[in-house]
Amino acid sequence: MTNENIASNFIHDFIDEDLNKGVYDHVQTRFPPEPNGYLHIGHVKAITIDFTTAKKYNGECNLRLDDTNPIKEDDEYVNAIIEDIRWLGFEPNKILFGSDYFDICYESALKLIKKGKAYVCDLSAEEIRLYRGTLKEPGKESPFRNRTVEENLNLFEQMRAGEFENGTKTLRAKIDMASGNLNMRDPVIYRIMKIAHARTGDKWCIYPMYDFNHPISDAAEGVTHSLCTLEFEDHRPLYEWVLREIDWPHPPRQIEFARLNLNYTLTSKRKCLALVQNETVSGWDDPRMATIAGMRRRGYPSTALRNFVEKAGVSKTFSVVDYALLEHCVRDELNLSAPRAMAVLDPLKVTIENYPEGKSETFDVLINPEKPEPGTHPMSFSKHLYIERDDFMETPVKGYFRLSPGAEVRLKSAYFITCKEAVKDNNGNIVELICSYDPESRGGDTPDKRKVKGTIHWVDQTDCIDAEIRLYDRLFSTENPSEETESGDFTDNLNPDSLRVIKGVKLEKFLSDSNPGNTYQFFRIGYFSKDIDSTAQMPVFNRVVSLKDSWGKANNKG
Ligand code: ATP
Ligand code: MG
Repeated sequence: MTNENIASNFIHDFIDEDLNKGVYDHVQTRFPPEPNGYLHIGHVKAITIDFTTAKKYNGECNLRLDDTNPIKEDDEYVNAIIEDIRWLGFEPNKILFGSDYFDICYESALKLIKKGKAYVCDLSAEEIRLYRGTLKEPGKESPFRNRTVEENLNLFEQMRAGEFENGTKTLRAKIDMASGNLNMRDPVIYRIMKIAHARTGDKWCIYPMYDFNHPISDAAEGVTHSLCTLEFEDHRPLYEWVLREIDWPHPPRQIEFARLNLNYTLTSKRKCLALVQNETVSGWDDPRMATIAGMRRRGYPSTALRNFVEKAGVSKTFSVVDYALLEHCVRDELNLSAPRAMAVLDPLKVTIENYPEGKSETFDVLINPEKPEPGTHPMSFSKHLYIERDDFMETPVKGYFRLSPGAEVRLKSAYFITCKEAVKDNNGNIVELICSYDPESRGGDTPDKRKVKGTIHWVDQTDCIDAEIRLYDRLFSTENPSEETESGDFTDNLNPDSLRVIKGVKLEKFLSDSNPGNTYQFFRIGYFSKDIDSTAQMPVFNRVVSLKDSWGKANNKG
């Protein structure tokens, strides 16, 4: 009854084992982000694992927003998270919040107190840290550790009633101050925070810690397999302790996998927030950001992101994935899906001297040679064209096969032209080329099968539109942008040339009908996606990715 289309991994091996042994008879997962920022490429891995694992076993996956800290969370983030998950192609079975379980957490805390497994502690946060000890030395017991059950029940009730100030008391699990695992040294499970919560309002002034809320939420929701990243491995004993001590009958099993790390990329919400706040980028959806919103705006297809995390694999070992693999996946998708068009980024005028003034004709250009079904679109041709400035060289270097005085090239899908003369202005700058065309070469070949070595792109001056193009490069120039710099500021690692804006670009006119999000392959240049900043007068296109595939070549897959 499993869905065999989904590739297997070590997580599925554990689940198979559980199902075979009868520990669980179904599978339920959840994706539990904290709504304190936008989701990034690392989350795509977690989302894909959570949702496809549930699907493989015909189970369900919920989205659970971990809103245990009322200070950092924001509804903007909640909405963005939901939108991003749907855009990736996943639909949560239910959308839930950690705060939905505050009542159960409170009841569970009372249960622990009554069992003598939790106590109210008056140590300050700083004192708790000092008492905790280190990996080498055991911790010291809190002087409040041995309060009676009655005293603890009273104090906890007073905490709840708002009778103590923030930070003056906590509720701590009574576990083992000598444990080799620091998380087990009487962790705080409730704290006082006199602050209204986005969903529970003023109902609570004490809030459960993540490590207490998380296992209870998982269990109460019916999660069978709680999948998370490796940094939670050391928290698993506490996760299991909580559910055991509150006598939860069929506790979920936590399984950890390695985080996705991508070179040249930041995957920390905190640091991404810093970039947004200091306006290094235009927002969470800046096309240079590795957020889902940024990559979507850049023009990365959601299927490419999913293929990428699939190729990067699911394992338990730390690794850093090469950004070129992500770009390879993007090209793979766009090569199949993106209509072809012509764009001239740095236009140079061309006049075809032997083509009649006022005449025009159209060529039917394949929309996508990889996919004949979508057919062709008409491209107009006249006496006045634009070509790319660097497709002409007055004195060609060896091996330069494009235009130069006397040389012949093919205009893609149109005619052969030969350069007769380069017209210069008073300063000696080339402002126009005078060329002739061969009427016999219509469509790109001559009856005598004459060979030309260069094929260049072009647009018709009388049938084109102006556009702005944004060329993006890596946001960081170092492979590991979070690494310490001399000044201790990770923004020192920024690439100063991560955005280059080009105005006065000439595009085929049909591109004026496109909508934000539409993506095209500009012949010989790269893939470009229409940006939301476009206006009717001035379309704006983002470079999604160039055509050159270093990863595919290096790995013989291009
Ligand atoms: P950040 O450090 O960016 O704030 P986080 O781990 O705090 O990330 P959460 O919102 O708590 O972010 O993450 C939700 C889920 O996504 C967690 O289960 C977490 O393990 C997973 N996750 C976060 N970052 C990555 C990553 N780089 N690769 C894989 N999974 C990740
Ligand atoms: Mg987190």
